Amino acid sequence: MPYTEDRTHWQSGQGLWEHVPESDWNNWTWQLKNRITSLEQLEKYMELTPEERAGCEHANTKLAMAITPYFFNLIDRDDPNCPIRKQVIPREGEMTVGAEEMLDPVGEDGHSPVPGLVHRYPDRVLFLVTDRCAAYCRYCTRSRLVSNAQDYNFHPEFEAGLKYIEEHPEVRDVLLSGGDPLLMSDKKIDYLLGRLRAIEHVEFIRIGSRIPVFLPQRITPELCEIFKKHGPIWMSIHTNHPRECTQTLKDACERLSFAGVPLGNQSVLLKDVNDDADIMKALVHRLVRMRVRPYYIYQCDLITGSAHLRANVCKGIEIMKQLRGHTTGYSVPQFVIDAPGGGGKVPINPQYITKIDDEAIHFKNFEGKLYRYPLNTYGPLDSDDDDDCKCDAEEIMF
Ligand code: SF4
Repeated sequence: MPYTEDRTHWQSGQGLWEHVPESDWNNWTWQLKNRITSLEQLEKYMELTPEERAGCEHANTKLAMAITPYFFNLIDRDDPNCPIRKQVIPREGEMTVGAEEMLDPVGEDGHSPVPGLVHRYPDRVLFLVTDRCAAYCRYCTRSRLVSNAQDYNFHPEFEAGLKYIEEHPEVRDVLLSGGDPLLMSDKKIDYLLGRLRAIEHVEFIRIGSRIPVFLPQRITPELCEIFKKHGPIWMSIHTNHPRECTQTLKDACERLSFAGVPLGNQSVLLKDVNDDADIMKALVHRLVRMRVRPYYIYQCDLITGSAHLRANVCKGIEIMKQLRGHTTGYSVPQFVIDAPGGGGKVPINPQYITKIDDEAIHFKNFEGKLYRYPLNTYGPLDSDDDDDCKCDAEEIMF
């Protein structure tokens, strides 16, 4: 059945925790303290499938389970195929390691000059500042270190990381991630952003966080003031399904936007969660209404035990075909594969170019209609231009 939803409705309320005082519910530390972290707790609230029960029993040896009460409310407890449920409740499939799966699928450890810092691209670094998250995504690329269930013993070294950035003037862009950086105290975030801002060659600071989605209560006015003080701070949030776009998340995004934080969204393409054009379209439409620009759809990395959640790449290409031209350009993210082993993000696009010959580029539009555009509109090509064109054509025509 095609996905439909009531576009005028934004989920809100305390759901199962209606009896809790509003002041507690809206307090992020209460949400953290009351997370569901064990099989026993989970079974108090819902009936699990045998697959889920087995997954929960093994979670503490792979990636811990944690679900905030707020996010748990989004689960349809009567539906074993609920797309929210699949993201956070462990399943037995996590214990099966596929032939091409890896502990460190995008080769971060090999590009790490100091613990917690990944320098893979020339002008930017990834700064992993914690191994903890508000809730744990069952397909996490950093399952090896996040939640420390695998005894990875991740100890980010703030000062060493900062020193490395200070000593490398080519680093103009720092991405804070983890784990989830927004799980740190205001004081620590303030300190870290202040130190980074003081480095003259650091032009661009961004944060990757799923906290707005798992724990929107953390986006307090005080935290927003810190972003304002050190701004511009860019932020990528992480939603996968339109049901995650609640009134509370919308309000949190508004607070961030008003504090001058430009927002993007990263989704991971997940089997039977969002590998469907109607679902993705509903998601991106909600995102732009929340002031969030859809940024990336990631093909799920080849992380160990993720095969049961990994969608076929062709579904991603099909979704892109159904978005590009069929909806607002601002709503269209880029589908990427993070090349296994550490090759970086590579855009994966539907094929629009049909041919490049000496005179023109030939291509299809979003409706499949054919068009041509001349290669040289200003007169005869000189020999250099000619070489460039041939080279591009060879690269494109595979
Ligand atoms: S929030 Fe991010 S780092 Fe944490 S488990 Fe999810 S994907 Fe991994």
